Amino acid sequence: MSGMTEFDVAGRKILEGIEPLPTVEVDILESLGMTLAENVPSPNDIPFAANSAMDGFAVIHKDIEDVSEDNPVTLKVIDDIKAGDVSSRKVTPGTAIRIMTGAPLPRGADTVVMVEKTRSDGDSVIIAAPEDAGQNVRRASEDVRKGEVILEQGEIIEPAGMGMLASIGRSRVRVSRRPRVAILATGNELIEPDGQIATGKVRNTNTYSLFGQVLRCGAGPVALGIARDSREDTEKKVKVGLAHDVLLTSGGVSVGDYDMVRDVLTEMGLKLVFWKVRIKPGMPLLYGRIGNTPVFGLPGNPVSSMVTFELFVRPAILKMMGRNKLFRPVVTVTLDEDIDLRTGRNHFLRAVVTRADGGGYTARTTGPQGSGILTSMVLANALLMVGPDVSRVERGTGLKAMLTGKESM
Ligand code: AMP
Ligand code: MG
Repeated sequence: MSGMTEFDVAGRKILEGIEPLPTVEVDILESLGMTLAENVPSPNDIPFAANSAMDGFAVIHKDIEDVSEDNPVTLKVIDDIKAGDVSSRKVTPGTAIRIMTGAPLPRGADTVVMVEKTRSDGDSVIIAAPEDAGQNVRRASEDVRKGEVILEQGEIIEPAGMGMLASIGRSRVRVSRRPRVAILATGNELIEPDGQIATGKVRNTNTYSLFGQVLRCGAGPVALGIARDSREDTEKKVKVGLAHDVLLTSGGVSVGDYDMVRDVLTEMGLKLVFWKVRIKPGMPLLYGRIGNTPVFGLPGNPVSSMVTFELFVRPAILKMMGRNKLFRPVVTVTLDEDIDLRTGRNHFLRAVVTRADGGGYTARTTGPQGSGILTSMVLANALLMVGPDVSRVERGTGLKAMLTGKESM
């Protein structure tokens, strides 16, 4: 078929026109999944001061290095430090200070003997088992050195990063603003999930899967409902969509008599970048801009809508979010079945990739691959990529698989 844009060209054309959104400062509790817009250095060492990793006794290692059951040492306990307290006393030869986990190591001491290895005797402690020098002490800066960049611009903020930001004293952080992504379904046949199903009706599926996909990017989805297959209704709802950072429509971009999304977008000033990509599923994909707003005309079939989101919309949203890593990991997998394909387009087969016993990965497709068969997506954790000239792939062949990061697998 002529007029189709190649897969990689389409992706490049989208991304070259996308810029990161302006940055905002947010509370760290709101930062999960957002992208850092700054390098974050630690203003101090972590731990800030050496402290005990155990409940026990702070001692001088020389006093306990040779002890054994037959040769215990008795040290005089001269103080007791709880977490949060600081001792004014100094450990000197022949003495120890009782210390709780997290309390700062007192002056003079270099080692903590865990309480389980000791016996009390009045105001002394008897130690009959040695510890290594420095044992059970968390050194100052052993985690992070003052000035060290703990998180870099362009990185996603994960739960551990939220904790790290807190631990270096940052309650607010600068991130790229979350894109607001409008989602518009189109079609006279569509009803919402709580509507009554009947012959001729189809439940609006794409709004919901796309909503989830947008959320997974860390962006903010806005569902605009269903536009009926009329110019007026489509135009009215597209107009609402254009007030967002990105507009996704689904359906109505094929060549049917009532596929009017492209016409309506064109009348509204669409600068078309491409229509139709050499891929399966998802060939009718349309992309362009109206004013400054990127508009994706996603195909209506539920699998096509999800796969084109994964391949084209997700990287664009991540770029708007300032992310330095836009693409899913691609691994080489060994195919565990024979598959026959129609040539002419790049295939993205829905598959389950598993780790093979002897290392590496194996893959099987998720069964029937029709672009209306959403089960193929529900079961998949990867898209198997097969080039346009391949008509048969035999079991044992190595293929590339894009891991789509399903959390339940
Ligand atoms: P279209 O390109 O509008 O003809 O849509 C292609 C196919 O996808 C048709 O079978 C539509 O009924 C179906 N479809 C379109 N939009 C949706 C949607 N939001 N949810 C589920 N199916 C849809
Ligand atoms: Mg339609």
